[in-house]
Amino acid sequence: MSSTNEINHESKCDEEGKNKFRIYCQSCPSIILNPRVGTFVSREFSLPLMHKNRYVNDKNTDDQPENATTKSSSIEVENLNDYWQVDDMFQFENISVTQKVDQIKYLACADCELGPVGYHDIATKISYIALSRVMYEDY
Ligand SMILES: [Zn+2]
Repeated sequence: MSSTNEINHESKCDEEGKNKFRIYCQSCPSIILNPRVGTFVSREFSLPLMHKNRYVNDKNTDDQPENATTKSSSIEVENLNDYWQVDDMFQFENISVTQKVDQIKYLACADCELGPVGYHDIATKISYIALSRVMYEDY
């Protein structure tokens, strides 16, 4: 199963690959990132399914995701390939850090805690926000 959440990232990028639009939480008006702060990167990373959204009722407990991270076999994950890279946590407008797992921390909305919308790499101090897990100003 490949990602069902593919969106056209080119429509979201300016000519330098930065986010053209302001980025919002999917479930509240909280601003996560201002325009041109994130840089589009294509990298494969599995994020746990978000809570507080429509996927919550999708309980396919007998459908084990292939290549899921070994440490979280009980957590359903989604393979995502499109991220906004943010080099410094201080560049976010609003973000909250949820649980820490090994060398990463999951990121969620600072107001309603919807997440994870992305993750923070502790070793490199770089954060990544999944393109498909946020809203854009033009919506
Ligand atoms: Zn929110």
